[in-house]
Amino acid sequence: MAERRNKIMTITGDTKMKIGIMGGTFDPIHIGHLLLGEFAYEDFGLDEIWFLPNGNPPHKKTANTEEALHHRIEMVKAAIADTPHFRLNLYETESAEHSYTYSTLKEFRRRYPENEFYFILGADSLFSIEEWKCFEEIFPNCVILAAMRDDKDAGSMREQIAYLERTYNARIRLLQAPLVEISSTALRRRAERDLSVRYMVPDGVAQYIREHRLYKRAKGEVGVYDRTIS
Ligand code: ATP
Repeated sequence: MAERRNKIMTITGDTKMKIGIMGGTFDPIHIGHLLLGEFAYEDFGLDEIWFLPNGNPPHKKTANTEEALHHRIEMVKAAIADTPHFRLNLYETESAEHSYTYSTLKEFRRRYPENEFYFILGADSLFSIEEWKCFEEIFPNCVILAAMRDDKDAGSMREQIAYLERTYNARIRLLQAPLVEISSTALRRRAERDLSVRYMVPDGVAQYIREHRLYKRAKGEVGVYDRTIS
């Protein structure tokens, strides 16, 4: 599988690749994220999936210390270490500014004009995308792969996809990945209460959370990870 099927030589000798982008806060990364990446890779014949942690997520009131960012990145590394077609992309963490999907995609298109980009997201993101900054500029720069999640059924997903395609000329495909009702929020709450996160995150991530005592708060202390959930 290492030598991928879509590497097409262009007339200038460049290699054209189909890249899936799995953006997220990954606080922590969990099997929901990984399954989306894997099914997108297989079903859409992608060459690589780039896991793109947000630096300073504009839509979430999140823990934004250097330390918290370091932990989020290390957990992504641990989660994808065994999968050669999964890559870590630190573009959005390299800036102290808010990172916005529209500008990241524009920059990727500028840097890698030969590549095709597929932006992977879950139903909650598909339904809130019109609240994202300059969201209309996302659509010309990628195909969106949208996965079902929680209470959104296939019918309402199809309606939302048709609406966005009609209204904004978006290109959106339904990504059929197993439905897993796991969120980073639920995992943080479990870790905080000393409950197991095994089987919901890869072993390396569970170990990292345990070793670094992430998401724990000593009594009376305001924790690093204390935050309002959006
Ligand atoms: P939080 O609970 O902190 O809001 P999250 O679990 O939603 O986090 P993010 O890192 O914010 O994780 O998610 C990144 C992307 O992955 C989003 O597009 C989200 O919809 C999608 N996603 C996350 N978990 C799942 C899941 N279990 N099923 C489908 N999509 C998911």
